[in-house]
Amino acid sequence: MPNFSDLGLSAPILGALAAEGYAAPTPIQCQAIPPVLSGRDLCGIAQTGTGKTAAFALPILQRLATVPHRAAPQTCRALVLSPTRELASQIADSFRAYGAGMRLSTTVVFGGVPIGRQRQQLARGVDILVATPGRLLDLIDNRWLTLSSVQVLVLDEADRMLDLGFVHALRRIVKLLPRERQTLLFSATMPKAIAALAEDYLNQPVKVVVTPAATTVERVDQRVVFVSSERKRDLLATMLRDPAFARVLVFTRTKHGADRVVRHLAATGIEASAIHGNKSQPQRERALAGFRDGQTRVLVATDIAARGIDVDGVSHVINFELPNVPEDYVHRIGRTARAGATGIAVAFCSDEERAHLRDIEKLTRSPLQVLPMPAISVPRGGQVERTPEITSSRNDSRRPERHAASGRAGTPSRHAAAPKKSRDEADGGSLPAFLRHQSPARPALAGRRGGHRGSTAGLRFNGAR
Ligand code: AMP
Repeated sequence: MPNFSDLGLSAPILGALAAEGYAAPTPIQCQAIPPVLSGRDLCGIAQTGTGKTAAFALPILQRLATVPHRAAPQTCRALVLSPTRELASQIADSFRAYGAGMRLSTTVVFGGVPIGRQRQQLARGVDILVATPGRLLDLIDNRWLTLSSVQVLVLDEADRMLDLGFVHALRRIVKLLPRERQTLLFSATMPKAIAALAEDYLNQPVKVVVTPAATTVERVDQRVVFVSSERKRDLLATMLRDPAFARVLVFTRTKHGADRVVRHLAATGIEASAIHGNKSQPQRERALAGFRDGQTRVLVATDIAARGIDVDGVSHVINFELPNVPEDYVHRIGRTARAGATGIAVAFCSDEERAHLRDIEKLTRSPLQVLPMPAISVPRGGQVERTPEITSSRNDSRRPERHAASGRAGTPSRHAAAPKKSRDEADGGSLPAFLRHQSPARPALAGRRGGHRGSTAGLRFNGAR
């Protein structure tokens, strides 16, 4: 296994990596860094969690530093396009952390926040600009930025960029770039449309594949419960009342669906936050920060908003609704297998969603194990009543539960770790024991706490190979 200095990286970058606590390069870093340093184009098939950000950020920083001319006003030298604001922020943070010992400037621009400050930041010119496509075009259309001196273009999560309908924006942007440039494209999957983009924009690229496209995340224990749409909310509340569900991402298909789930959980005494496209940027950041630092135990997200969320120690992913794009299922469950941990994913599948389930199983090439419908525990007036039958949804006015049989279900855990005490079947209701099992991060990958993305766990590399 090579180390970072074998890859030709310079002293300031090696220093920054040591400060981040990275012991050795990940597979995509080993394969991508040398060719990108030598100026080659690259097409990388890799998911978030493989270390792909450093795979492009490190050689870009080094190349920009070796030609130390300043960016002209209203230009940038490297442009990184990201499909979402969250991912854009995280990429910019990574550039700043890895480039800490260098005199290179990084700016991030995305929609949903005032444009004035972004305009000011660009006025003097920046070395690295991380942008979402829409806001980038706004800045260009207002003549606050030109792309005529871009030397390196990165298209990150290109498949998601197309899913979100950015293809026209992307084509417009690429036309504004110099022909002579280095282009790096990263995508979790390689559908035909991405292959076509790669063909158009990349020049004899080096190809790097670190995870077979859209295969199941193997470390995730995946189950499906067949449940009617009406029963889903109470099933969710029953599961979340168990404190072993320590840090839970719940996925809904729509923004309104996410808000409805949060309201329903609140009515049963379970605190949760929602993160989706209708939330303002500060709201999203607050929700994410609360989830990261353990203040919020349950985060309800839509696929788009969850993209790029980099949080360790997610104990469970609950697919409250199945995605109609099967690849999204793979992205969703991957959130619970970070930092070398294994995770648990439970899909709630109604009759209407069986076709989606079939598509998912076709893609992952493995049928999900069926979890029998657990008995529902419905909190009422401080007592928990367990019944296999759901009571009517009018019970939403129930009072928040205080001391339920499962413990402090109404009090979200402030810590990501599973409770230490061992519990028998009577404690926690009728949930099968494996749903409460959590395995820690593999010791080999455990490193120093923190990191530039504000994680509370160890290294955040999911070790995909
Ligand atoms: P990414 O795939 O770029 O989203 O990175 C996933 C996580 O892995 C991030 O939290 C990085 O900080 C972390 N990471 C990246 N490279 C390494 C490395 N070589 N060793 C340990 N952690 C890493």
